[in-house]
Amino acid sequence: MVDVLGAIQNAISIVQKLRTVAKKIEHAELNTLLADLSNELADARMEAAELKTKLAEALSEKEELRGRLDTRSSATPVLDGKVYRFEGEEGRFCTGCFDGRQKKSRVTKLPKGFRSSIGTWECPICKATY
Ligand SMILES: [Zn+2]
Repeated sequence: MVDVLGAIQNAISIVQKLRTVAKKIEHAELNTLLADLSNELADARMEAAELKTKLAEALSEKEELRGRLDTRSSATPVLDGKVYRFEGEEGRFCTGCFDGRQKKSRVTKLPKGFRSSIGTWECPICKATY
């Protein structure tokens, strides 16, 4: 992949050198054109930086969506009491995390003293008890 920001930065450096040379020959039109070119390159650099940020965000979002799709297609939960279990996987899983965000969060069993009042299982991610 071409480093667009690097290429634009190199072009800006070249224009700055040209402006130094142009000042010595005192050609008004050439100086004006080089100033315009310098401004255009600065705009292009800013635009390229914004596009780079947007591309990174889009790629990150794509990966997250792909992860959700993989989870969704490879897993059909079975309700076991108030929590889910998945074929071939150990443990029980949070229904809230899976239904809301397609994340498999393995729940942990609460100590016996707590179970009767708030539930048997706790999700370490969303802190729900079941
Ligand atoms: Zn959860």
